[in-house]
Amino acid sequence: MSLLTPAEPGSPRERMVREHLAARGIQDQRVLDAMLSIPREEFVPAFLAQYAYDDRPLYIGYEQTISQPYIVGLMTEALQLTGAERVLEIGTGSGYQTAVLAVLCAEVYTIERIRKLSVRAQTTLRKLGIANVHFRVGDGALGWPEAAPFDGILVTAGASELPKALIEQLAEGGRLVIPIGPLGSQTLHRITRKQGQYIDEKLTRVAFVPLISETEAGQPLEAGQEPPAEDD
Ligand code: SAM
Repeated sequence: MSLLTPAEPGSPRERMVREHLAARGIQDQRVLDAMLSIPREEFVPAFLAQYAYDDRPLYIGYEQTISQPYIVGLMTEALQLTGAERVLEIGTGSGYQTAVLAVLCAEVYTIERIRKLSVRAQTTLRKLGIANVHFRVGDGALGWPEAAPFDGILVTAGASELPKALIEQLAEGGRLVIPIGPLGSQTLHRITRKQGQYIDEKLTRVAFVPLISETEAGQPLEAGQEPPAEDD
């Protein structure tokens, strides 16, 4: 049973959606409704809960952040979801973006390299009654070949270059939304696969924590194989 309920008018969550998403150009009503229904305070540490509806990233531990709500709305809208899709997310983090996707499509596959973040996100989504998500700990730059192809792929960390495995795992007509570029100077791209071609649109400038791929470092991990353990 899902515990998601629409926000009350005038509540911090409703104001966040109205002032920081709708007023800044997010038009997809399904995206706005999804973000109205998801309690962002459940995804941040208790001492930051008072800032949960500010339009900014917040620290979630392990040198990682939950993304700014406006950017979550923008990236989700760019996927053009209708409800039937299977979507791959790279960078589970807190699980907030995962929850937004889970409300908007049929099935989500999400990969996180830091095991403790993945476990925490699994607990949060279970608590909210969200059950259409598959979790994996590993290097997301390799994608999830056994579950491919995907109608949408969303990368929530900045890649230095386009991971080849991800475009190969895109279904015909599928969209890949990904920040690409050096730290501090990334551009959000939407790459659409159409009749064997890839159409590349540049959406906006963004600032994400880096996609840390052991593959890029020259030590390939098998899909699903875990990177070295991280301490608290
Ligand atoms: N979408 C998340 C949320 O809503 O909380 C925020 C994601 S945070 C900006 C980026 C995440 O990507 C971090 O949790 C980081 O550990 C993860 N990450 C970085 N490189 C990765 C990789 N190669 N594979 C999987 N996850 C990765």
